Amino acid sequence: MHSVKSKFIAAAMIVAHFTLSSAWAQTDPAREDSPLGSFITHKITPGENIFKITARRLFGTQIKPAALPAAAIGTYALGCLAGANQLPITGDSWQVMRLSRNRNWGTPQLVRLIEKIAEQAKATAGWNGLLVGDMAQPRGGPMLSGHASHQIGLDADIWWTPMPDHVMSAKERETYVPLEMVKDRTTLSEHWSENRAKLLQEVAQNPDVARIFVHPPIKAAMCKFATGADKTWLAKIRPYFGHTFHFHVRMKCPEGMSACKNQWTPKPEDGTGCGKELAYWFSDAPWRHPKPNPNAPKPKPAPPLTLAGLPAQCRAVIAAP
Ligand SMILES: [Zn+2]
Repeated sequence: MHSVKSKFIAAAMIVAHFTLSSAWAQTDPAREDSPLGSFITHKITPGENIFKITARRLFGTQIKPAALPAAAIGTYALGCLAGANQLPITGDSWQVMRLSRNRNWGTPQLVRLIEKIAEQAKATAGWNGLLVGDMAQPRGGPMLSGHASHQIGLDADIWWTPMPDHVMSAKERETYVPLEMVKDRTTLSEHWSENRAKLLQEVAQNPDVARIFVHPPIKAAMCKFATGADKTWLAKIRPYFGHTFHFHVRMKCPEGMSACKNQWTPKPEDGTGCGKELAYWFSDAPWRHPKPNPNAPKPKPAPPLTLAGLPAQCRAVIAAP
């Protein structure tokens, strides 16, 4: 693992010598020092049995999308992506962060949603635009690092930090430190603001959005912020660990994508999740680690996930040019 990390750093340092566009033009996956160096470290060699390779490595080393009609296949946390579209790394009102991860891919619907949220960030929040974190890999699927979900091109992480007024270099996008919206698991930081709440409400009201994950104090702030008769959109805003500097937007399965499986619809008793559900997240319960029983037999680790454990259509996604 250590050598992977140092290769990553070496690659990032080399990128720093070029302007953004030339750095990206230098992305030759055959070079150890390319920004995609880590993809080389785990690269599949011809003749390897693809059913014996871990799914994380198989999908985590894909550099190009599968030349197939666009389709989200499987579930958010177990699936893959055909015919992905790439969100351009620099738009009128967005910039993609952490380019070395090559995770700015999604269904055409997700790319359009991000473009829309970027416009809303300008109009509603008064920002220059959005900073976009992880979407999906070029062929979706499990990743070598990070998320369990984001596998089918319908999830995206959007930073709470407004886009700066200049086009950032690849190096800056790699190292930029985001603003933290929370001090701890119950308290907001001084960076939280009403224009962020307005933006989040608009995103939650979009009928194509299924869920939005935020850190618990942000959900609490939204419950206070919401006015008006219809507060049902609040049910989509779900408290969850680890969402301190970005929100995670998840789309419903687009119409016609029959291999895509929707998750259950959040229907909190109170219609908003501002009562019992939020109280649970403000209690110790979700944050407590169960004490392991020293006398319990060691659980046998599950065999690693391979292509065989993913929906059958994912084989065509790997085989496609
Ligand atoms: Zn996420």
